[in-house]
Amino acid sequence: YDAKHRGDASAVYTAESDHNSPERLSLLADLRRVLDAGGAHRAERSGGDAGEIAMYYQPQVRIDTGEVVGVEALLRWRHPQRGMVDPEELIRVAEQSAVMRLLTRRVVDDVVEQLAKWAAAGVQLRAALNVSVRDLHTGEIADQIAERLGRYGVPAGRLQLEITEGALMADPRRVLATISRLDRIGVKIALDDFGTGYSSMQHLRRLPLAEVKVDRSFVLGMAAGGDDAAIVRSIIDLARALGLRVVAEGVEDERTWRLLHSAGCHVAQGWFYARPMPADELVSWLARYRPVNPAPPSLN
Ligand code: C2E
Ligand code: MG
Ligand code: MG
Ligand code: MG
Repeated sequence: YDAKHRGDASAVYTAESDHNSPERLSLLADLRRVLDAGGAHRAERSGGDAGEIAMYYQPQVRIDTGEVVGVEALLRWRHPQRGMVDPEELIRVAEQSAVMRLLTRRVVDDVVEQLAKWAAAGVQLRAALNVSVRDLHTGEIADQIAERLGRYGVPAGRLQLEITEGALMADPRRVLATISRLDRIGVKIALDDFGTGYSSMQHLRRLPLAEVKVDRSFVLGMAAGGDDAAIVRSIIDLARALGLRVVAEGVEDERTWRLLHSAGCHVAQGWFYARPMPADELVSWLARYRPVNPAPPSLN
């Protein structure tokens, strides 16, 4: 679907879809510049200025109790000329180049460091970060994650990976090898955007998954009363039958939350609770947050 139709994308820059467009190439060049500078300037960035690229964090909430069980880390790039770059577009462009490797390295570094900072401040959170299947074609990411967790003393259970099947899985064996290694380290794996991929069902059978995330395109349509609610309910049933945790993303209103509650969904994420926000804002949000009362059973 068209990312421009999303509610949070009002002032978002979108590159031409043409692969070799000057727009796309200049976006990639800019991204490389920011990522190259990132390592050298990390110390300077710590004074509150997060730099052009920053991770935002969105709470994930247990539907039955309202307890915050974790956050999803989402990339934000505020380009000095273009303004906020649409993350989906950015990833699509980066994925076709070697820059994706640098970007994922940066995301892993930032998120693990953030987990350590929160822990030092007494905030024990679990964070999920997004990777594309292409990041899993080598074991490099598993090495990096193991190294970072060790260096910052962050327990592996605090980190989760959300895999998006953005492209047909080119090398399933190597992806499986990387995922299995992460699983052995103790990093849990979620299958993101479930229902939209090329072969989601096969992944359920083959990969050591802990969680399935229902794609927000289905969740957004639930309250309208069409087929989406039935699709979401059957994804929830399937995931539960396989012993997987189900997370619904894109929960924007109370009605959707109630429908998810009666359908047996474990965790919800969406604007109904909170938008993605910078790390320090999250701490004050958590301090203010009061669990939403679980929905009454009457909607069953
Ligand atoms: P995703 O992983 O499926 O992330 C969920 C998306 O839903 C996020 O979009 C989030 O802001 C949005 N969202 C959350 N709640 C609501 C809601 O209630 N309503 C609506 N309309 N949207 C909601 P975002 O941040 O624009 O990211 C888009 C996609 O870009 C992500 O989808 C993910 O696939 C990719 N992405 C973002 N950050 C990263 C990253 O660090 N690495 C990689 N590889 N991909 C990333
Ligand atoms: Mg995700
Ligand atoms: Mg998703
Ligand atoms: Mg997505």
